[in-house]
Amino acid sequence: MIAKSGKLIIISAPSGCGKTTIVERLLERNQDLMRSISYTTRPPRAGETSGQDYFFISKEEFLEKEKQGFFLEWAEVFGHLYGTSQQFVRKAIREGKKMVLAIDVQGMKQVKANKDKGLSLISIFIMPPSMEDLKARLEKRKTETKAQIEERLTIAEQEMRQKLLYDYVVINQDVEQAVKEIEELI
Ligand code: 5GP
Repeated sequence: MIAKSGKLIIISAPSGCGKTTIVERLLERNQDLMRSISYTTRPPRAGETSGQDYFFISKEEFLEKEKQGFFLEWAEVFGHLYGTSQQFVRKAIREGKKMVLAIDVQGMKQVKANKDKGLSLISIFIMPPSMEDLKARLEKRKTETKAQIEERLTIAEQEMRQKLLYDYVVINQDVEQAVKEIEELI
């Protein structure tokens, strides 16, 4: 499905694990890395910009794109749809780029199932140091309601049970340390 050449780096983490910060730091420090900007039907959070954090689109637009085979993978996460542009990733890989996909477990499974044999793919799962720590982080960022936090914690437990499907597991005890570990892996 994906032509051989570059490298795909899939990074997944339960919501609130600090994945966004880790990915941002990785990209800042490693100019050879590119990030795929996903499409989502989730409304933007304060400070998020379309085309930079995500492409924010309507559910109708998303479903239309899905019908046209636009997505390399897509999934419903917390009631919203998220997907990766097939064309964007294919082009980058053809050009030999190292492409970071910050996607959930469902997306990782789809990409793994559809990839060409020769494509170099590495999958990394970021874990919180503990569930208490994750809860504290979610409460601190104040972007979710109490009920949404509970839902994210339940999903986090389900996702963490699937961590063994990944090539590597990195614990985000300290962001700098986690970034260094990932740099060594890729
Ligand atoms: P958030 O709304 O907090 O930015 O992201 C929620 C979840 O959606 C995260 O687990 C994130 O990794 C996942 N996600 C973001 N973009 C994509 C995507 O394109 N595909 C899939 N499968 N998951 C995504």
